[in-house]
Amino acid sequence: DAVVHWFKWDLRIRDNRALSQASEMAQRAGVPLIGLYIVSPQDFEAHLTAPIRVDFMLRTLHVLREDLAKLGIPLWVETAEKRRDAAGRVVELMEEWGANHLFANLEYEVDELRREAKLARMFAERGLALHVAHDTCVVPPGPLRSGTGRPYAVYTPWFRSWIRYIQENLDLLELSEAPKPNPTTVKKTHGKLFDCPIPDAPEGKRLTDEEKKTFRPLWPAGEQEAMKRLDKFCEENVGQYGKNRNTPSIPGTSNLSAHFACGTLSARTAVRTARDRNNTKRLDGGNEGIQTWISEVAWRDFYKHVLVHWPYVCMNKPFKPEYSNIEWSYNQEHFEAWTQGRTGYPIVDAAMRQLHGMGWMHNRCRMIVASFLSKDLLLDWRMGERFFMEHLIDGDFASNNGGWGFAASVGVDPQPYFRIFNPLLQSEKFDPDGEYIRKWVPELKGVKGKAIHDPHGRGAEVLAKKAGYPKPIVEHRGARERALAAYKRGIESG
Ligand code: FAD
Repeated sequence: DAVVHWFKWDLRIRDNRALSQASEMAQRAGVPLIGLYIVSPQDFEAHLTAPIRVDFMLRTLHVLREDLAKLGIPLWVETAEKRRDAAGRVVELMEEWGANHLFANLEYEVDELRREAKLARMFAERGLALHVAHDTCVVPPGPLRSGTGRPYAVYTPWFRSWIRYIQENLDLLELSEAPKPNPTTVKKTHGKLFDCPIPDAPEGKRLTDEEKKTFRPLWPAGEQEAMKRLDKFCEENVGQYGKNRNTPSIPGTSNLSAHFACGTLSARTAVRTARDRNNTKRLDGGNEGIQTWISEVAWRDFYKHVLVHWPYVCMNKPFKPEYSNIEWSYNQEHFEAWTQGRTGYPIVDAAMRQLHGMGWMHNRCRMIVASFLSKDLLLDWRMGERFFMEHLIDGDFASNNGGWGFAASVGVDPQPYFRIFNPLLQSEKFDPDGEYIRKWVPELKGVKGKAIHDPHGRGAEVLAKKAGYPKPIVEHRGARERALAAYKRGIESG
C-alpha cells in the first residue's frame, strides 16, 4: 500500500496543501508516501513552455528529489510521450504500487481541468480515490463575488474583497503542515523508486551550452533558493517597493516570479511572510511598500480567478468579445524588429533584449513593449503573448494572458482603448537617465543626456547610425491615430 502525491507546478515540500494532506493520510494509515512527476513534452509544446522554464523546472526536480529523499520519500519521474497517456500512466503506476489514494493540487487552465476530469473518471471506474486541493492561489477561485453575485471583472473592487475575505478567513494564510518522514522500511519495500533518473529536456526545449552558462547562475533553482530570495527581498527591498518598483534600472522588485510559476514558493507563504514584517500585522495598513507588494502578488490570484470564471480566455479569445473584430496587422518585419529589440525605440529594444538576456523582463517594460506591439504596431496581441511564453522563465498562462489583454485593451481593464502609452514619455519617466537602456542596448552607451530616449530624433543620429542602431520603425503619433481608428472600426463592426 502507499499514498501518492502528484507534483505539477507545485514543486516544493514546504507549505504544499495537497502534499501535506497526502502525508497526513499516509501517516494515519501507516503506509509510505510516494511523489510522482510526469514529464509531458507535448504539454510543453502545446503550452509554448520556454526552454529556460523547462530547464528551471528540471533543475528544481533534482533539488526536490534530494529533499524528499531526506524524508525517505521517493520521487518517481516518468515521461509520457503522448499527453493523452498521462492519466492512464498515473493509474498504472498506482496499481503497480498498490496505492489507492492520489493527492494533487488543482490547476485551473482548461487543458489541465480536462486531464483531471479524465483521471477522475478512470479512478472512479477502478475504485481509486482522487483528492484535490486548492493551493496555488491565496484565495481559491469562487467565493469572491460582487454585490450582484457575479464574479469580478475589475481588479480594484476584487482586491478589496480579496483583502476582506482573507482578514475574515485567516486560516487561508496558514502554513500547511510539513510532510512527515516515511517509515524507515520504505527503503526495503520501495527501494527501486529512489533510483529514478530525471530526464534531460526534450528535443526543441533544450538550452544551448552558452544559454545554460548565462541563465543558470541567474536563476538558482529549488525552494530554499526561493525562500532565500523572499527573505532577502523582505529584508532589503520591500519597504521601498512602492517607490522603486517602476524603475527598471534598479532591482526593486522581488524577482520571485519564476518561483511562483514553478511552485517553489507558495503565494500564501509570500503574503504571510510580508505581512508578518508589517507593524500592523494586517494586509491593508502599515508599511506602504509591504501593502503594495501584497497587492501585486494578488494580481496573480486575480488573473487565475479570471480564467476560471471566463475559461474562453484559454482559447485565444479576448476577454472582451466586442474586441474580436479588430483588424490586426501581421507585418512580419515589424514583428521581427520587435522580437529582436530593433524597433528604434530604445526603451522597447532594451526591454526585449533583457528578455533574451535573462528570460525575464521588468513589469513596467512588459507593459511598454506589449502596448507598443498591439497599439503602435497594431500587431495581433496574441503574437506577443505567444512570444513571451516562448521566452519567459516565469511564463504563466493566466498572468501572461491577463497582462497582454490589459496592455492591448482587450482584457479585464476598465480603461478605454484610447489610453495609449507614448513609448517616449514612458522612457523619460521610468528610465530618466537612460541607465536601463544603456545596459541593454550597449551600442547607445555613448549617447548623452535626453537623446538616449530617441537618438535619431534628438541629435544623436550620427552616433546611432555609426553604431548600427535603427531608426524608429513607426512614428508614434501616426501609429496612435491608426490604432484608434482600427479599434473604433473593430468595435463598431462587432
Ligand atoms: P514583483 O513586483 O516582486 O511581484 C511579486 C509577484 O507578484 C510576482 O512574482 C508575480 O507572481 C506577482 N505579480 C506582480 N505583478 C503581477 C501582474 N501584473 N500580474 C500577475 N502577477 C503579478 N507574470 C508572470 O508571473 N508570468 C507571466 O507570464 C507574465 N506575463 C506578463 C505579460 C505582460 C504583458 C505583463 C504586463 C505582465 C506579465 N506578468 C507576468 C506580470 C509581471 O510583469 C511579473 O509577474 C513581474 O514582472 C515579475 O517580477 P517580480 O517577481 O520581480 O515581481
